[in-house]
Amino acid sequence: MRRKPIYYVILLIITVALSFISHGNDIGIDIGNDSASIEEQNNTGNANPIESTSKESGQKNNYVELGQLKVHFIDVGQADSILIQNNEKTMLIDAGNNADSDDVVTYIKSQNIEKLDYVVGTHPHEDHIGGLDAVIESFDIGVIYMPKATSTTKTFEDVLHAIAKKSMKVTTPIPGTTVNFGEASFTILAPNSDNYKETNNYSIVIKLEHGNNSFLFTGDAEDVSEKEMIERGYDLTADVLKVGHHGSSSSTTQEFLTKVNPKYAVICVGKDNKYGHPHRETMELLNKKSIKIYRTDESGTIIAVSDGEAITFEETLK
Ligand SMILES: [Zn+2]
Repeated sequence: MRRKPIYYVILLIITVALSFISHGNDIGIDIGNDSASIEEQNNTGNANPIESTSKESGQKNNYVELGQLKVHFIDVGQADSILIQNNEKTMLIDAGNNADSDDVVTYIKSQNIEKLDYVVGTHPHEDHIGGLDAVIESFDIGVIYMPKATSTTKTFEDVLHAIAKKSMKVTTPIPGTTVNFGEASFTILAPNSDNYKETNNYSIVIKLEHGNNSFLFTGDAEDVSEKEMIERGYDLTADVLKVGHHGSSSSTTQEFLTKVNPKYAVICVGKDNKYGHPHRETMELLNKKSIKIYRTDESGTIIAVSDGEAITFEETLK
């Protein structure tokens, strides 16, 4: 029986297709075995692991190994000071009260840091920018972020003077901006208005992402700012929440906490402070959601370490 030529053409197409599929499998195995060279690229900074981890789908990336990201919640009593390190990049969010200047500078130096790539003064209250002038004078500084909020205090003037003495400029943060930070990246989420009654709401809010781990630093942002961030539709989810305003009930609304949905909460607070921080209402909200709480008044300086997949906590007083 004679076959039609079309029969041979179809047979040829099937044969070629089968050979391609088998080659495809081979290529897949090769990539899997080649993870060492991919890691090497990351170490030299030629590849951006943030880009290659699928943020949208939240899928885990099994072949990119990230270095450590360290977040130090420095114990400065009833005040904030947070030092962040990743892959030679450094950031300081707030610098405690005036009286904490030496402690903050000494702590940063103890980490062998000479340059702070990013310095953030969340808002012009003394318990956040008090030690900032000493920090600016003691280290090489990259970018200084401060909100468009002024104050007539000597503390605030001291900070502006220290900045001017170095011929530096203050950068006003623009919400929605994302900046690469070593193997991590951070996004500015607030302030979203120019005019607030309460200075706390000018607080710069930053979300830091490292692989599949994320941190939300809220300064003293209160309910008004939290509502704006929700209305803006930002992705507020984070593994670690630096609880706003030292655990005051003026921050951490139920709605905001639901959006952030953290596993861990860190409260920067002084022992027996005159404000009664952290407030009972805030503690109840956190406990109801079974969020693990760390407090600087109980644990001293708290160091959170992320490898991009898991976060571990070191408490210096325990
Ligand atoms: Zn404060």
